[in-house]
Amino acid sequence: MNENTYDVIIVGGGAAGLNAALVLTRARRRVLVVDAGAPRNRFAAHMHGFLTRDGFSPLELLELGRAEVRGYLGEILAGRAVSATGEAGGFEVTVELAEAATAGTSGTTGGTSGATSGGTSGGTATFTARRLVIASGLRDELPTIPGLAEQWGTGAVACPYCDGWEARDLRLGVIATGPMSIHQATLIRQWSADVTFVGPLTDDLDPAVREGLEARGVRILATDVSSILSDADGTLTGVALADGTTVDLDRLFVGPRLLANDELLRQLGAETAEGPMGAWTASDFTGLTSVPGVWVAGNSGNAGALVVVAAGMGAMAGAALNADLVAADTREAVEAARAVASTE
Ligand SMILES: Cc1cc2nc3c(=O)[nH]c(=O)nc-3n(C[C@H](O)[C@H](O)[C@H](O)COP(=O)(O)OP(=O)(O)OC[C@H]3O[C@@H](n4cnc5c(N)ncnc54)[C@H](O)[C@@H]3O)c2cc1C
Repeated sequence: MNENTYDVIIVGGGAAGLNAALVLTRARRRVLVVDAGAPRNRFAAHMHGFLTRDGFSPLELLELGRAEVRGYLGEILAGRAVSATGEAGGFEVTVELAEAATAGTSGTTGGTSGATSGGTSGGTATFTARRLVIASGLRDELPTIPGLAEQWGTGAVACPYCDGWEARDLRLGVIATGPMSIHQATLIRQWSADVTFVGPLTDDLDPAVREGLEARGVRILATDVSSILSDADGTLTGVALADGTTVDLDRLFVGPRLLANDELLRQLGAETAEGPMGAWTASDFTGLTSVPGVWVAGNSGNAGALVVVAAGMGAMAGAALNADLVAADTREAVEAARAVASTE
């Protein structure tokens, strides 16, 4: 193999991609992880719901993960994969390199300790691999409300399983951004009896839904949120409404629009299937997509995957992919043995 040829290229170095890399490097596969360095939960100081890592720093988790992968000779490249073509046995991935990545002789950061940084001004490089794992995550598109972006990951969050315990018994708000917000408002009541569901969409609530929310004491305000309020330290204090009133709150739950980072999957021709979050890449239980040789893992394959699930999807994809390579290696060995036998 030449230096730019790998058994597997993994696009995305979050929990999903790194766990796939860990399984594959331990299976003695030559692995390149390409990572743009912007994990979805980078806005949060703590990560919850991951057994033995509850409360851990999300970025530290990935730093430890990168060290483990490198310990098994996996290579991690800082950059953004911008195109993927080819088929099983011969995929080609073009990467816009982050500046730091070009410091190494082979263009990889495998021998350095630096975390990937996200900038991509270091030129491009092309790599080939027999198989691909796309673990590129998703983007959270927040509603455009002044002050909301600044609170994302601290005062404003999305997932009660990630942040509900820390918000227990506080004054909680849910902004009605779409149909999923109804589910969110219903769920959040599990963590506090003081819940305000706010936004013009609440005007159109199904009567049975309204009855259920009101029976559980959820306050419903059908007014637009005009801005998010915070104190001098930047701590969230409430929301200002379009009717000129304010609501005091300690924590806000918001349902952002979820957009898969699935451009490479579409380039490769992977099919999608309709799900609760819209059209998402279809795959079998191991993450194998409709394109032979291409696996998907983590949020790019399942919008609802928490970190532990994303890591598990990566591990599953890694094991299935290795079995696929073993089968291919065996077929090639049999063909070679038969060719030798036929000349004897
Ligand atoms: C504010 C917030 C708080 C959260 N808190 C929790 C929590 O407490 N517990 C929990 O379990 N979950 C939490 N989550 C969910 C968590 O972020 C996801 O479960 C997790 O990030 C999914 O891992 P992943 O590997 O699929 O994707 P990511 O972690 O997003 O990693 C994907 C990686 O791929 C890179 N990438 C994307 N496109 C490319 C490309 N073309 N080329 C190269 N690299 C690329 C990205 O830059 C990123 O580094 C939270 C989410 C948010 C938004």
